[in-house]
Amino acid sequence: MNNNFKDFNLNKDILKSLNNLNYKKPSRVQSEVIPSLLKKENVIVKSKTGSGKTASFGIPICESIDINDNSVQALIVAPTRELALQIKEEISLIGRLKKIRCSAIFGKQPIKEQITELKQRVHIVVATPGRIIDHIGRGTIKLDKIKFFIIDEADKMLNKGFIEDMETILSRLPNESIKGLFSATIDENISSICNEYMRNPVTIEIKDTEKEISKKQIIEKYIKVETENRYEILKKIIYSECPNSLLIFANTKDNVIDLYNKMKKDKFLVQQLHGDMSQDKRLFIIKDFKENKFNILVSTDVASRGIHVDDISLVINYEVPRDKENYVHRIGRTGRQNKFGKAITLVSQKEVKYLEEIESYTGFKLNEIEKIDEYKIE
Ligand code: ADP
Ligand code: MG
Repeated sequence: MNNNFKDFNLNKDILKSLNNLNYKKPSRVQSEVIPSLLKKENVIVKSKTGSGKTASFGIPICESIDINDNSVQALIVAPTRELALQIKEEISLIGRLKKIRCSAIFGKQPIKEQITELKQRVHIVVATPGRIIDHIGRGTIKLDKIKFFIIDEADKMLNKGFIEDMETILSRLPNESIKGLFSATIDENISSICNEYMRNPVTIEIKDTEKEISKKQIIEKYIKVETENRYEILKKIIYSECPNSLLIFANTKDNVIDLYNKMKKDKFLVQQLHGDMSQDKRLFIIKDFKENKFNILVSTDVASRGIHVDDISLVINYEVPRDKENYVHRIGRTGRQNKFGKAITLVSQKEVKYLEEIESYTGFKLNEIEKIDEYKIE
């Protein structure tokens, strides 16, 4: 296994950029995926949240871009605009000294400006599905020079809602293009879909080492609530935990708005995030949260996948997520990059069945917090 970025024979500008980013050593997923993609292998990658999947495809893509060719050579798709932007920012930093240009293309932004941008020198496009399909239909993005096609959060993207868009893109790519699927939660079901479009894909699964298992990075607990005292319990948890940075998930937009209003009234330094807000506002909120301008964010699952904020110390599921995969992604916003985090899930009687589903999916039984007044997690 390679323990140093130099072992991959990377271009010196890329090595310099990695150094500027303070990436000293490749993470485990990077050690395996970088050589594989450089060898032009199609990959299906399963590796936990916060393990550095973005750079694992970002580095070999930047390495392989022909800087003298101004056409789009790599396309990366992600389920939300916030995530597309975050990926674009990381890849731009990796490719900066090699003078690679990377664009983020997503909905609710003027299409005319995007068309102008795509006419210029752009090597890598990071996009959300709807808008990129629009550009493909209009002929304003050319796919004939694409060397890499990456689907981030692939299990979500190959599910209903997105699958037709993915098939449209896959069917139009050059045959020899390299394809990669990435997620923390991929199971066999999607393999059948990818076998159709990926020649001899290599599956790379990074499992926790014994040491990681014994030293769990996220302490997960649950607490029983009644519908009437859910909010009171939430407040008690916040007072007893005093988190520096807290991300609270509710299941619907209305519940997010409702909770946000209650917390605002109680003078918490809180913001909200959901799909009905304008795109500019959404991006500002994520930026301000990353910059620690407020310490509590209440969100729907738009923030559950991919978004990286340093030092989120606590994730609270105000309600149990109905999709078991979303539980893994939500709590994965904390405990990133070998840091420790906590996740607490509020469970009402009628939500017990969803919690049980999650427990059998993760193979891990959550401990109950029994007495909130005296409670303080270790
Ligand atoms: P994932 O997609 O697996 O959930 P990310 O790609 O978002 O994780 O990476 C999580 C964080 O780790 C990001 O802030 C990223 O900049 C950082 N990171 C990635 N690779 C390295 C590395 N080799 N060394 C140090 N930090 C890294
Ligand atoms: Mg990611």
